[in-house]
Amino acid sequence: MGVRPGELWNRFDWATGNCFRCEQTNVPVAEVGEIAMAGTAFPLCACQRCVFRLEQLHWTMSERAARLRNAQAPGQPSPLGQWPTKAPLNRPPAHVA
Ligand SMILES: [Zn+2]
Repeated sequence: MGVRPGELWNRFDWATGNCFRCEQTNVPVAEVGEIAMAGTAFPLCACQRCVFRLEQLHWTMSERAARLRNAQAPGQPSPLGQWPTKAPLNRPPAHVA
């Protein structure tokens, strides 16, 4: 089950400011990260709508990564330099001309 917007918003500290994502000004925003510019880190603040959307994106991406990991689980990655078959070679690989 998903987290309801209100529940999610309660996890952040809100202050009036500008949203980095939709560029609304003087709206309740929460710090969602920071951006480094010329060696200085500035806080990134997003409004409630954008925080919810970013949270959705975060979940979509982690779900996708988990699915990818599960899909790859049965096979073992072949070590670099080894012929990409499960069976070991019974003779040396042909020379490349
Ligand atoms: Zn926004």
